Amino acid sequence: TDTSDLIRRTIRSVPDWPQPGVTFRDITPVLQDPHTFRRLIDVFVYRYMRQRLDLVACVDARGFIIGSALAYELNLGFVPVRKRGKLPFDTVSEEFVLEYGSATVEMHTDSVRPGQRVLLVDDLIATGGTMTAAIKLLQRLGANVLEAAAIIDLPELGGSKLIRDTGTPLFTICQFL
Ligand code: 5GP
Repeated sequence: TDTSDLIRRTIRSVPDWPQPGVTFRDITPVLQDPHTFRRLIDVFVYRYMRQRLDLVACVDARGFIIGSALAYELNLGFVPVRKRGKLPFDTVSEEFVLEYGSATVEMHTDSVRPGQRVLLVDDLIATGGTMTAAIKLLQRLGANVLEAAAIIDLPELGGSKLIRDTGTPLFTICQFL
């Protein structure tokens, strides 16, 4: 569509960052321009406005930017999924493997009540490790994860397939091969 083309064209590709051989897809130009930022949030608003949702759960840190604007517009609560050690209250955590080593995401134990209908948001799906760990955390808290959503899918890294294979629907606005 026009909007996904606009967003895709506005994303900046930065070669060799954060390391040689990696091309980083930088969403800051999309956020910086008021028209593209609104068009971006509105894609999600129109997709989810007729769904019965309770919460938007968002992944630290770029997921927060889109997820909070979306939760506000849809009149939903916002709950953070954070990197280890950032949340002050009782937490549940889920470890996942990275290319070198591992990482952990955490949520407050009282951030979701069993049966609540949750939309999970992040900016980009690469290996799918982050999103898959967040889905597991939400499900451990009893959430009904209706869908996971991101701006960008890097399908060649297999993350979007991994997420869909777990049974959670996934929506992304654009792809980079
Ligand atoms: P995954 O866990 O799917 O391998 O990596 C996705 C996570 O890493 C997301 O939270 C995302 O913010 C971050 N990430 C990895 N690569 C990129 C990239 O090229 N651009 C952006 N914006 N985020 C990335």
